[in-house]
Amino acid sequence: MIDFTRTRGKFHLPEGVVYLDGNSLGPMPVAAGERLSRMLADEWGDQLIRGWNTAGWYVQPRKVGDRIARLIGAAPGTVVMGDTLSIKVYQALSAALELNPERSVVLSDSGNFPSDLYIAQGLLRSLERGYELKVVEPEEVEDAIDDTVAAMMITEVDYRTGRRHDMKRLTARAHDAGAIAIWDLAHSAGAVDLDIAGADVDFAVGCTYKYLNGGPGAPAFIYVAPRFADRARPSLAGWMGHAAPFAFDLDYRPAPGIERMRVGTPPVIALTVLDAALDVWESVDMRDVRARSIELSERFIAGVETACPDLELGSPRNSHERGSQVSFRHPHAYAVMQALIARGVIGDFRAPDAMRFGFTPLYLDLDDVDRAVALLAEVLDRKLWDTPEYHSKATVT
Ligand SMILES: *Cc1c(COP(=O)(O)O)cnc(C)c1O
Repeated sequence: MIDFTRTRGKFHLPEGVVYLDGNSLGPMPVAAGERLSRMLADEWGDQLIRGWNTAGWYVQPRKVGDRIARLIGAAPGTVVMGDTLSIKVYQALSAALELNPERSVVLSDSGNFPSDLYIAQGLLRSLERGYELKVVEPEEVEDAIDDTVAAMMITEVDYRTGRRHDMKRLTARAHDAGAIAIWDLAHSAGAVDLDIAGADVDFAVGCTYKYLNGGPGAPAFIYVAPRFADRARPSLAGWMGHAAPFAFDLDYRPAPGIERMRVGTPPVIALTVLDAALDVWESVDMRDVRARSIELSERFIAGVETACPDLELGSPRNSHERGSQVSFRHPHAYAVMQALIARGVIGDFRAPDAMRFGFTPLYLDLDDVDRAVALLAEVLDRKLWDTPEYHSKATVT
């Protein structure tokens, strides 16, 4: 087992805070500031436009993609960075539909993150080919896979409850039925040990500002299985995904392999910060992270169930069916969470009644968990949440 006290020292964590929201926005790696200053001065400042070649900006989306690939169980050269996750969902789904043109159903579930469903709705409408987005309950996905399904588009770990789908099994079922499997790993990458190549996933997408600590607005990633990498046709056919961007041809020709999933100019500054954040992951094995995350989550669940009888577990009890977050339900979940945040324990609220807590072994230990449980119990026992200031909702919850 790796020494997590060493990784903890690599993050800037405000004094007195127990941060249980790294599933939504990871904390700042200490190295990010220094790395960014250096990049601004030496690269942008001194190299100016030459930086595209001399500082490797142009190849950065692939190089950073290779670092993500290691964490999700994909081969080098199969992942590329850029844009936001919503855009990557669009790219994966539109390419999948073109690869399976005889079919008309996109299958997803009600545990998916709304943006993924909105993107699918917008795409299917603009295609005007009679596509149907079929949204079933998470438990019904397997039975809903049939030979009408062109693409199954599923988020592996539910953003509210942490419920985890069986990626390997559902992908195999989708393939048996002739459907393409698209997985959103937003709450999986950096949270659980993944083997997307072993699970034979067709497309995978994810963001990097959650468990991977790339900072607000950090660029997203997309994976395309090698068998499709030269066949997937990008619908967002931008010049950086062209086979020869600097030939300035008038017609689009996709670049070989995963490069075609690039769209426009990459966010070099954000990729530099993300690259610094990924250094922390170099020393860890995802299996250790997963084992520790289960230990922390189990301690939290046991502690809360003993100390806070008013709360109801909103997550699967079996750790193998959960990602790295736990939610508890309370009729005044928003106010309770605000009172808890005011006391230094930061989690978040998800409508209608969930308090969500993320467990991130790189910078959390058992003492943090115990402290969070004790403060939560105090907030509930003494009804500290029941004041007007804690009831008024902010724009971002
Ligand atoms: C966080 C999250 C998103 C957010 O998408 P952005 O384009 O990065 O804002 C989308 N889908 C899922 C499943 C998420 O968890």
